[in-house]
Amino acid sequence: MMSATIVYGVGISGRGAAEVLARKGQQVFLYNDTECTIPEELAQSLAAVNGGLVCGKENYPALLEKSDRVVLSPGVPCDIPTVIEAEKQGKEVISEVELGYRMYGGHIAAITGTNGKTTTTSIVGAMLERLEVPSAVGGNIGAAMSKEVENLPKDGWLALELSSFQLEKVATFAPDIACMLNLTPDHMERHYTMEAYGAAKQRIFTQQSAEQVTVLNYDDPEVRTWGEKTKAQVCYFSRKVKLDQGVYMQDGNFVIKWKDTEAVVCNIKDAQLFGGHNEENILAAICCGFFAGVSIEDMADVLRKFKAVEHRIEYVETVKGVPYYNDSKATNTDSVIKALEAFENGHIILLAGGHDKMTPLEDMMNLVKTKVDVLILLGEAKERFNEAAIAAGVENIVIVQSFKEAVEKAYELAHEPQVVLLSPACSSYDMFNNYPERGRTFKALVRALPR
Ligand code: ADP
Repeated sequence: MMSATIVYGVGISGRGAAEVLARKGQQVFLYNDTECTIPEELAQSLAAVNGGLVCGKENYPALLEKSDRVVLSPGVPCDIPTVIEAEKQGKEVISEVELGYRMYGGHIAAITGTNGKTTTTSIVGAMLERLEVPSAVGGNIGAAMSKEVENLPKDGWLALELSSFQLEKVATFAPDIACMLNLTPDHMERHYTMEAYGAAKQRIFTQQSAEQVTVLNYDDPEVRTWGEKTKAQVCYFSRKVKLDQGVYMQDGNFVIKWKDTEAVVCNIKDAQLFGGHNEENILAAICCGFFAGVSIEDMADVLRKFKAVEHRIEYVETVKGVPYYNDSKATNTDSVIKALEAFENGHIILLAGGHDKMTPLEDMMNLVKTKVDVLILLGEAKERFNEAAIAAGVENIVIVQSFKEAVEKAYELAHEPQVVLLSPACSSYDMFNNYPERGRTFKALVRALPR
């Protein structure tokens, strides 16, 4: 009898899925192409169901023989030979999200898009907490879905962040609410074309039925057309257009207009988040909250209290009248543009640079010229950034040799009404292990500045 499951990939999702399956008494093997280790406790749980950790491609064929199902971690592409071989042999190949969905049966607000997923999912999670039923947050945000749903009842709610990778191998997945934020070129190394990338994203709603809801960004020309592709009810949101039905902005107010409901949730000035991109995230979150049954007052209260997710234009402290912001998550020029646009009055002292991704810098530097008082450049990218800035006509440029020096220089130069913003347009690998480490270092340096 074949009944074992292979969980492919030993990340957060893979370990979570294996743990849950073992707890349910199912025989499960955690498989990884390369050598790795797992916590002793997990190894024991797997051993208890006659499973275990298996590493190395040479051991994969024998493993496949004993198994009838492969659960893919989000990092594992579906077109690699090992996965194709499993399908050829008639094994069922699903993503960890599909597994979690099958084990659950409760309510889901699922959120995807190129940018803004974590912020929107976090706001929706905070809104769902106001319901009387239990709720949780999971998925791409850093918690395996299958583990998060384990303790949720059938009337519970899950705010689920989904990447396109996680959506590639869903089959029956049909969330109560499917929210699509935006679509811009990303991950072409995996999806190859925008069509394929868009198609993966659309799987968030393809299994939905008429009583469920698809939330779509009306201001994104591609996403808007998807209203014709879903069988669910469509709720659009827009920053720019007063919709006949949907959630939109008018004079800074967030307005819901849906059947018998017409209500203002709150004004953007009441919220701590700011910037056009966050207005979109808030609109999307209100759609999700509304259809999940969160009251208008509770949504307004959440929006008043919700602070930026760490490292995303996160307010740190005000030193000598100058506020400091940590946007370490901005690892590409697009994110930096969003951040610069968010400070309507300009007067920014921008700290940029790090490990250079070699992407075009023209658009970003043109905006730097109008918004930035002083550009402080650091890291491997500093020379190329310097050339691009000069070419765009940026005048005040300071090149520094260390991260600490960058913060000290900003402190030395900054005065009211300026703001200091770390928004690097680079990954952090030249100086740090990852962007959270860079952001935390920045915050520690700011907090240590003399008053
Ligand atoms: P994700 O989880 O999709 O990466 P985050 O909420 O972590 O999104 O935000 C990452 C960065 O993307 C932010 O720092 C910001 O620069 C940018 N961003 C956030 N929301 C949006 C949006 N709605 N549209 C465009 N860019 C956004």
